Formats: sequence, structure tokens, C-alpha cells
Amino acid sequence: METLIPTINRLQEVFLTLGAEIIQLPQIVVVGSQSSGKSSVLESLVGRDFLPRGSGIVTRRPLVLQLVNLFPLDSLFSFSVFHIQGISPEPIYLKIFSPKVLNLTLVDLPGITKVPVGDQPKDIEAQVQEMILSFISNPNCLILAVSPANSDLATSDALKLAREVDTDGRRTLLVVSKLDLMDAGTDALEVLLGRVIPVRLGIIGVVNRSQHDINTQKSLEDSMKDEQAFLQRHYPSLVSRAGSRYLAKTLSRLLMHHIRDCLPDLKTRVTVLSAQYQARLNSYGQPVEDHSATLLQIVTKFASDYCNTIEGTARHIQTSELCGGARICYIFHETFGRTLQSIDPLAGLTDLDILTAIRNATGPRPALFVPEVSFELLVKRQIKRLEEPSLRCVELVHEELQRIIQHCSSFSTQELLRFPKLHDSIVEVVTGLLRKRLPITNEMVHHLVAIELAYINTKHPDFTDAAQVSASVNSQQVVVCFSLQGLFFCLAKQQTLCSLKAEAEALDGGKRWKNEKVTEEKAAAAGFGSPSKGQAINLLDTAVPVSRKLSSREQRDCEVIQRLIKSYFLIVRKSIQDSVPKTVMHFLVNYVKEHLQSELVGQLYKQPLLQELLIESQDTAQQRTEVAQMLEALKKANNIISEIRETHLW
Ligand code: GDP
Ligand code: MG
Repeated sequence: METLIPTINRLQEVFLTLGAEIIQLPQIVVVGSQSSGKSSVLESLVGRDFLPRGSGIVTRRPLVLQLVNLFPLDSLFSFSVFHIQGISPEPIYLKIFSPKVLNLTLVDLPGITKVPVGDQPKDIEAQVQEMILSFISNPNCLILAVSPANSDLATSDALKLAREVDTDGRRTLLVVSKLDLMDAGTDALEVLLGRVIPVRLGIIGVVNRSQHDINTQKSLEDSMKDEQAFLQRHYPSLVSRAGSRYLAKTLSRLLMHHIRDCLPDLKTRVTVLSAQYQARLNSYGQPVEDHSATLLQIVTKFASDYCNTIEGTARHIQTSELCGGARICYIFHETFGRTLQSIDPLAGLTDLDILTAIRNATGPRPALFVPEVSFELLVKRQIKRLEEPSLRCVELVHEELQRIIQHCSSFSTQELLRFPKLHDSIVEVVTGLLRKRLPITNEMVHHLVAIELAYINTKHPDFTDAAQVSASVNSQQVVVCFSLQGLFFCLAKQQTLCSLKAEAEALDGGKRWKNEKVTEEKAAAAGFGSPSKGQAINLLDTAVPVSRKLSSREQRDCEVIQRLIKSYFLIVRKSIQDSVPKTVMHFLVNYVKEHLQSELVGQLYKQPLLQELLIESQDTAQQRTEVAQMLEALKKANNIISEIRETHLW
């Protein structure tokens, strides 16, 4: 077995690298009836005289012998044996450190007994069987079934038990002991040739030391010589395939096969690990030599990652949520667009509000015409409602741009994690840039609404439809000629108008405009005087008017104004829905995209800063060294495995 030691030692180097025992040599377990010679067989395998042997049940507990190859220290023993009457499944562990042994585990078990002797428990047979089975059912165990030559092989309990767990015989080797103790005139040739019972891995005959040899302290070496002489004499045709030495060689071969079977997996494992460590090493980057170039490179990479995330051309596309440009698009068209769509053009405008506005706009004169001023006043109030969602849109996009910084600094630009200071500085600069652009963009959006409020363009090409609608509403009783320029109603049927006026005046007995009057009084008390034409006071936010039934004239006026407001509001809303995203893109998103790189370079690329910014995080430097060492060790391991595979003739 010593021939295996160099190979095992080299594999050991591989194990050390991988930090775990990847190849486990099979445990070798001896099984046999009591006094069949199990302990003796193990002893000759190890080459040492240390196991308790003798007649009767000597081995009472499983003895797990861990052979540990130790170079170049002297052999050491660590040992613990207890004397107990019965048997116990608790193993005794014995470690043997020696440069001459394999890293291998051998297990010596109590022998199979039939009849309890002395104070042995009644079920000793079952207890022992159970204990043996628990060891040999492990598929990574080689079974050495020991059967003495002087009893019939067909009654071998060892083989019987082995077959129970190893049905196809792939891991059972039969050892026929005590060849020297056969009756005169008989021999074990037929048994050893496998003619009585064939055993797949082989049948090996041995002669161990007799009790007399032990008593007279015959050395193991001498006993090996005598064994050879015995075989030469009695089994000349089998001399090369029997004996303790051949048994050791056979075991070596079996272990080699086992190693060979494990090597491809081991090699794969090493290759996979190498690739993983190489990738990790790459992620740490090289130690910084040229600070300027490194900083420029990282800043440029960050800026381009940032822009790519907005453009949707980033390499790391997120699949869990919308991000970057896609999210901005969503904000524009879903969040913002839908909010605008959901605004009712006439929200918050009651008929009474409208009538009050008309009355206020006409001043002291009776309302001959539906005055333009009231339409303007009311439509402006509705347009103002567009400002708040527009500013919210800016805010959302700003938030998203802020999020992209995090995304890029932690995900895309992995290298940045090496330099925590640079990382923080970049985040700070970009955040600063965004913060600077936010009020400018808000201001522009504010202007957009102000621009709409500045001039109510009743000549807007899309406003004509509304004019026709208003005309048709009035056409039944009153032919209204609607002048777009002045929102000027010329009433063709004077008579109708007069009768309507009379009706209105008749009703105007202080009841109908109660609310208005109260307000007027309030205004007068406050020193404003009564409202006059063109100086309409906005009474819309004062106390809720008392509801009442409108006259048909009033109803018509209301409808006209409502339709006009609706039509004009839709025009403005469409325009705001279109221009706000454009403004946000121009003043915020595109601006940041275009100026990011120069802003970063301008603020960070300063000689005195460079060293400081590019201090690697402590972890990185250390991890890089560790990973590089591991990679080196893996390469070596790979070479060792390849060498073993090439140089051994299996
Ligand atoms: P175990 O109970 O199976 O472990 O058997 P041991 O190894 O303790 O051996 C039992 C007895 O048989 C001891 O006295 C050994 O010296 C003796 N013995 C074992 N093998 C042989 C052998 O091949 N030839 C002779 N003559 N005696 C043997
Ligand atoms: Mg024994």
C-alpha cells in the first residue's frame, strides 16, 4: 500500500486547497466470525502489532483505526480502550500517525457469535449483527470478509452478511485465513480458485501469526517470510495471488480504482472553482497605478452607464421593475398623462358660480351679452389646476434620476465599489447637479402654465367647433351671433331678449341674488365699493350659494359658458400634456445627460484629490490577495490531478 502514499499525499495538497475532503478513500471494514483472524488481517495490513487478539471475544467494540499519513514526523499513537463485559456499538477511535500509512480508515469489528458466553447478553448475536450491518451498509466501504480455511466456506457468516448489503459483490473481498491450520490431507485450492463460491473482487488466502507466534513475540516481518514459504510449499500455483502482501496490493489497487473514479469529478470541481475565482479576481480590478487615467476611466464609465440606463441601452437590463428611461416614459404617459386626463374641465364650477361670474362681469348694466370676461375668469381658474400635476411630474422624474445614480453606482459600475470615497463623491456630484436643475425645471413648468394664463386665445384654430356648438345651443329661441374675437353676443331677437329681461327683473326681488348681495355688502364694508364692469370680483370661493332653479335664459348662458370652458380647457390640457414632458426632458433629463461627464470631471479631476479618491477599500486589497492565492493553488491542484491521471497505469 505504500506505493499509494505519494499519490495520496499529492491529492492531499489538492484537498488542502479546496478546503474540504473531496475524495474520501473507502473505509475498509473487516467482518467475520469470532476468532476468524480479523484483527490479525488488519494488523498485517497496517504493518504493526498493536491490536488486541486472542481466543474468545476479544474485540468488543468497533475499533475505528484512522491512519494518517504524516511526513516526516515519527509515528504517534492516540489510543483509548475500555474494558467492558458485553459489547458496545460505540466505536473506539484509534489514530495512527505515520509516514508509512495511507490516509485510510480501517474498522475492526467484534466477531459474529452464536451463543452467549458467561454474562454476555442473550441477544448478543443480534446486537453484533446489527452493529456490523450499520458499518458495512455504507456504500463507501470495502468489505473484507474473513473466513478461516478450517471451516466450511458455505457456512461463512461473513460472506452471508456481506451479500446482504453488497448484492452484486462490487465491494466485497474474501480473505481465507488460517491456511496453516487445515487438516492434514486437505487444502483450500478449490476455495481459493473461486470454484466453491465465486467472489467478484477476489479470494485471497493468508497465514497470520498463530497464538503461539504472538506469545513468543514473533515479528511481523518474520511471519510474512514464513507465510511466503508456506504458500510456496502448499500452493505453488497461487503464490503470486495469495498472502498478506498480495492482499495489501489488491487493496491498493482497489483504492486506486476508487481514486481514478473520483478524479474526473475532482477535475471538474477544480475547473469550476478556478473560473469562479478568476471572475472574482477580475471584479477587483488591478491595483491603481495611474491615478488620473483610472479616475477618468471610472468617471467616464459611470457617466456612460448613467446615460445608457436612461436611453435603455444599458448592459444590465433589470427585469424586476421599470428603470431609467422606461420609467421616465411611464411617468410621462401613464402617471402624468392619466392624471391630466382625469381632471374634469368643469370641476368645481357650479351653475351658480358661472352665473355669478357673468353678473359680476356685466357690472351695473343688465346682462345683454354674455361677457367675455366671465369666460376668461372661469377658464383661467380651471387651467390653474394643471400646474400641480405638472410640478409633480417633474418631481417624479427627478426622483427617478436620483434612483439611477444608485442603480449605476452599485450595479453597472461594479468597479466603483473598490473606491468608496470616489463612489460617494460621484453620487454627491450627480445629486448636486440634479438638485441644481430641479428649481429651473420647476420654474419652466410654472411658466408653461403662466403662458397659458397670459393669453386666452379664442382664435385658436381648434376653438371654432366650440363656437358652433354654442351657436346651436342658442339658435332655437335666440339667434346668437357669436363673435370669437370678443365673445360678443349680438342678439337678433330683441323682443325675446326684452321678455327675458323682464322676467329676470321681476324675479330679482332680493331673493335670488341673496348670496351675491351679502358678498357685495362685505366688499363695500372692506372699502372695495361695488363691483363695476370689467372689475369682476371673484366670488367663487365665498360661501356656498343657495341653490335655486335657473331660468331658461340663465340655463342657456350657463351651457354656453360651460361648453366654451370645456372646449378651451381641452385645448390647453392637450398642450400642457405635450409640453411638460418636453420641458422636463430639455431642462432636466437631457441637460443632466449632456453635462454629467463634464460636471464630474470638473469637480473630481483635481490633482490633490486624486490620491484620496482612489484609496481602495481595505477589504478589496485584502480580498484580491486572497483570491489570487487561491487561484494559484487551484492551478497547482489542476496540474497535480492531470499528472496523476497521466502517470498512473490504472
Ligand atoms: P478475530 O477474533 O477475528 O479478531 O481473530 P484474531 O485475529 O484475534 O485471531 C484469533 C486467534 O487466531 C489468535 O490467537 C490468532 O493468533 C489466531 N490466528 C489468526 N489467524 C491465524 C492464522 O492464519 N494461522 C494461525 N495458526 N493462527 C491464526
Ligand atoms: Mg478481533
